Amino acid sequence: MRDFGSISSVSYAVNVLLLLYNSVDSTLKNPNTSTDTCAYLVFNCFLAGCSYTTHAFATPADTDPDTLIYMNFMKTHRCYDAIPTSSKLVIFDTTLQVKKAFFALVANGVRAAPLWDNKLQCFVGMLTITDFINILHRYYKSPLVQIYELEEHKIETWREIYLQYSVNRLISITPDSSLFDAIYSLLKNKIHRLPIIDPVSGNVLHILTHKRILKFLHIFGSMIPKPRFLQKQIREVGIGTFKQIATVQEFATVYDALTVFVERRVSALPVVNEQGKVVALYSRFDVINLAAQKNYNNLNMTMREAIASRACCVEGVLKCYPHETLETVINRIAEAEVHRLVLVDSDDVVRGIVSLSDLLQALVLSPAGIDALCS
Ligand code: ADP
Ligand code: ADP
Ligand code: AMP
Repeated sequence: MRDFGSISSVSYAVNVLLLLYNSVDSTLKNPNTSTDTCAYLVFNCFLAGCSYTTHAFATPADTDPDTLIYMNFMKTHRCYDAIPTSSKLVIFDTTLQVKKAFFALVANGVRAAPLWDNKLQCFVGMLTITDFINILHRYYKSPLVQIYELEEHKIETWREIYLQYSVNRLISITPDSSLFDAIYSLLKNKIHRLPIIDPVSGNVLHILTHKRILKFLHIFGSMIPKPRFLQKQIREVGIGTFKQIATVQEFATVYDALTVFVERRVSALPVVNEQGKVVALYSRFDVINLAAQKNYNNLNMTMREAIASRACCVEGVLKCYPHETLETVINRIAEAEVHRLVLVDSDDVVRGIVSLSDLLQALVLSPAGIDALCS
């Protein structure tokens, strides 16, 4: 990881291993070393249709200064500051077949890729694991029937169908925007991937996530005053979701879990036994294992089987208890590098979810009088 020092240069010096997949022969192009026309255009695209509006937020006058510490920190640091020195970026041409795209995510160990439209000469959206879930859920019939649409559709075909119902432009941010604006955009748009695009060159420099922002705060946390409210218990501060928690039974099928992902739009499901005790966690990220293991044609397997067959995963369930302090929760979630903790009682029965979205909302946006999580 990069030394997060402040950089005032206007040229954005980051090392990005950029891999472009297109449909010509579905081979991988590396624009850093190739003179391929398409790759060249990636570097020269402009941000048509990729606008981002900066918002002017008013801070309530009677707010305790302690509660403003994280908000001010995020307002005074730029997205550029949170970019790692070196990272890998995969870009897909929209004419690439969806199946090849998801295999490429697996092969490169990345969770999402910006989409390049060669006709429009600009980035038009993102492809994430949620898209894989939506495709599987929409077209799956039975273990005996191949998912034709996954085998044959191009990304652009899928987008024509899907975008009638969802975000139909790329949501991005500039490197000079504040982390506060990035958090607002992630939460307001209910997305987990925010490309940072250099407005001059059109290059995607990094894909910002909640995790990266919390990590940045965690590293700097020791250098800014520690707010007193960190010592409050989770049950006192009420950060998280405590009602209508979406869960899945351990003997439910993977298809059942995908249905909950699609209908509830949650990022993960605590897997529970008959007593309601949490026994595992199945996140959207875990669904990519179906592509890695090429067993997406059998969505009738149980959650238990799917969890046992995960290639790599976190050991056990990362939980928290209502009496634990906010500081303990933040440290646990940041150190484990997961997107949420499952809030449980002393019997391990699920009582809530404390997600990075909830923490960033409470620590950064609420002090500015903004509720970006309510829809
Ligand atoms: P995941 O949690 O699976 O990585 P997201 O929650 O970020 O996925 O994505 C939800 C939906 O929003 C997907 O259809 C994805 O393609 C789309 N999406 C994600 N990020 C962006 C973005 N920056 N601009 C436009 N659409 C996006
Ligand atoms: P992403 O980086 O896409 O947000 P997640 O944090 O949702 O990914 O998931 C990454 C991995 O960590 C997945 O295998 C998921 O099952 C695991 N994981 C996430 N949260 C927890 C948790 N609270 N307990 C156990 N495992 C978790
Ligand atoms: P996330 O998508 O995890 O960033 O979270 C967005 C919001 O959904 C947060 O308020 C979470 O607490 C909430 N949330 C996440 N997972 C679940 C779930 N399984 N059931 C209910 N709410 C959830």
